[in-house]
Amino acid sequence: MGRRILAAALLLLAHALPAWGSALGDLLARADSVRSSDVRQFRALLAQARTLDGDATRAERELFEFLQAHEQIVLGNYPAGIAVAKRLARDAGDMDLRYRAALLIANTGALTRDYPDGLHYLSEALAMERKVRDPAIRQLGLAVAATLYNQLGEAKLARAYAERQIKLGGTPRVLCAAHENRVRAMNALADTGGIPDAVFDQAIAACDAAKEPIGVYLVIASRARHLQNIGEPAEAIELLRNNLDGVRDVAYGRLTAEYYGQLTDLHFADGDLEAAERTAQQIVALDGKDPHWMPLATAYRVLYLSAKRKGELGRALNYMEEYHAADKTLVDDAQAREYAMELARHQALEREQQAAVLTHQNRALTAEKRALAESARAMRLAIVLMGLAIAVVAYWAWHSRRTHRVLRRLSQTDSLTGLATRRHFGATAARLLSDCEQRQRPLSVLLLDIDHFKRINDECGHAVGDWVLKQVADIGRGLCPERDAIGRLGGEEFALALSDLDIDQAAALAEGFRRAIGELDYLSGGCHVPVTASIGVACTSHSGYGYQKLLSEADRAMYMAKQAGRNRVASAVPPTGYVPGPVGRAAENDPA
Ligand code: GH3
Ligand code: MG
Ligand code: MG
Repeated sequence: MGRRILAAALLLLAHALPAWGSALGDLLARADSVRSSDVRQFRALLAQARTLDGDATRAERELFEFLQAHEQIVLGNYPAGIAVAKRLARDAGDMDLRYRAALLIANTGALTRDYPDGLHYLSEALAMERKVRDPAIRQLGLAVAATLYNQLGEAKLARAYAERQIKLGGTPRVLCAAHENRVRAMNALADTGGIPDAVFDQAIAACDAAKEPIGVYLVIASRARHLQNIGEPAEAIELLRNNLDGVRDVAYGRLTAEYYGQLTDLHFADGDLEAAERTAQQIVALDGKDPHWMPLATAYRVLYLSAKRKGELGRALNYMEEYHAADKTLVDDAQAREYAMELARHQALEREQQAAVLTHQNRALTAEKRALAESARAMRLAIVLMGLAIAVVAYWAWHSRRTHRVLRRLSQTDSLTGLATRRHFGATAARLLSDCEQRQRPLSVLLLDIDHFKRINDECGHAVGDWVLKQVADIGRGLCPERDAIGRLGGEEFALALSDLDIDQAAALAEGFRRAIGELDYLSGGCHVPVTASIGVACTSHSGYGYQKLLSEADRAMYMAKQAGRNRVASAVPPTGYVPGPVGRAAENDPA
């Protein structure tokens, strides 16, 4: 984070300070602007830039390299210039410069007849075009395409690119190039017929406006060729001669050669051998003459033919050899052009097919992606709905279970004493019975009825009666083993189901129960009537494992206890060694 802030600060500083970098930047910008319009000035500015020393920014360094590559190419040192341009086209930090470098290579390919390279870098550049920020630079692509196609003899394509550029508009320099390419292409298109003067006038005006003398003179050369084509050689010669000084001033070998070449052709056609030889010699004498120049072949051809006509056979032979060499180069060039265009067409076709396949794949992918997105959306919705449903069901289940539990507890529990209700006690007892039956173990039932309870209610009040009921229930709960059952069967009647107890053991437990009730501190509960209970005991050993039977036997025994004077325990079958009878103080008070 801190590093990023530092970098931003340094960047600001670099922009704020009038550093040496901006002096170089200035020089480079000026050189760039006169690059094609004033070669001398361009080279002088670069020479001046080379004398500066200090630190340049990456952008400045790369622009400097680019302009020097351009200079090398202008000087005819193609391999050196192209090597630098190729590196920049690949690695330059700035996309605009990469684009320009690719176009420089394409443009140079047109000059050096390296058509495969030229077409390759043209298509590289056109592929980068969208990412180029500077619209003036972006337009260069169409201009270079038009130039290269012109050079390749693809006049129709060249004209189409040039006219597209003119229609789109652009910087003066770009428009000049477009117009120049357009007239050149129109000249090359045999079926064009006469070209209106206005077309040349517009082109010259465009290059004038751009301060591009090379452009102006190239258009004039095209116009002269057109005049020659339409059978006006004198006008063509005049036009070329009138501009020759200006052309020499521009100091651009190719342009000069073009003028002299056309003049040579025209003079020779006119039969003016002296003039033709003079202009031909001018071409041969040009610095940095290029074997690929058509005018050079023209010059050698005319020199050879002229010498032959004059009977100077030695000279004629020499020139003929030169002519054949130059002509061979041109034929090779034509073949190279053919080959390059074939290659380019093939590559374009391949690329088109690739594009079609990619588009197809892309469409399929998009559809698949959309389907996936939709199914994901549907899935999410389903999950949400399902979650909601689960939540609702879960809540409902939880709620109903809770309600159920509450209801069941309510239905199973006696609200006053917290003991099992008659029904629930019956169900539990039945389960205990079947368990004992399976194990062939006894189960005993105790049935307890509080004595004269009505009297307690009557004399002490209903609330005291309730208190007594709760006390008795608590004693019973304390006596009842965890696994067994105790319930309030109704009113002041309680029952216990005791597994694994035979009738004697049960009677003994009942006795303890009875005694505990008798020992109740009834006065503390607001009761001044002593509390006693009569208990009947029955056992499966006598009554069998049927619950109802067992209960009614216990009830019978309890009735017997009441009959015998209350406050006592009675067994359905008199146990051995156990004598039922009144026990404790309650029995003494018992009036019955
Ligand atoms: P016995 O010794 O013959 O059993 O006489 P008893 O008075 O205990 O028997 P009875 O069946 O005549 O009276 C039972 C009374 O219990 C009648 C009723 O008012 C009273 N009772 C029933 N349920 C409750 C209750 O929940 N609370 C109170 N305080 N009294 C109740
Ligand atoms: Mg009763
Ligand atoms: Mg009673």
